[in-house]
Amino acid sequence: MPENDEPIIITSASNRRDIEQIVYGLHLRGVRVQVVESQSSRSDKYDIVLDSKYAFIAREAIYGIWDAILEDYPRAVTLEGRCAFCKYDVRSLPKPTVCPECGVDLDSPQARRAMRDKHPS
Ligand SMILES: [Zn+2]
Repeated sequence: MPENDEPIIITSASNRRDIEQIVYGLHLRGVRVQVVESQSSRSDKYDIVLDSKYAFIAREAIYGIWDAILEDYPRAVTLEGRCAFCKYDVRSLPKPTVCPECGVDLDSPQARRAMRDKHPS
């Protein structure tokens, strides 16, 4: 195997449905992945790993895949226009928004997932 075919972690997840959708979404784009137990200290249980030859197409696709998974949670902002984490009023701030109070990127998949997981529908 050539040296540039090192495996990379494209994203991480814990929820089984999230993992299935990510694997399926990448599969549709011709990307084969492996789901491995996460070695990192972050909270997600599994890493989605792929060969670096797929890195470009996978990076292009992964935000769209998370967008589809999190379509009911487009931003980690409450109905009142406040940061979902610290309740700072972010209505007047431009998008995408990093909360000036707690530093969370409110448009990131991580923040949107945290908001979804706090408010299961
Ligand atoms: Zn905040």
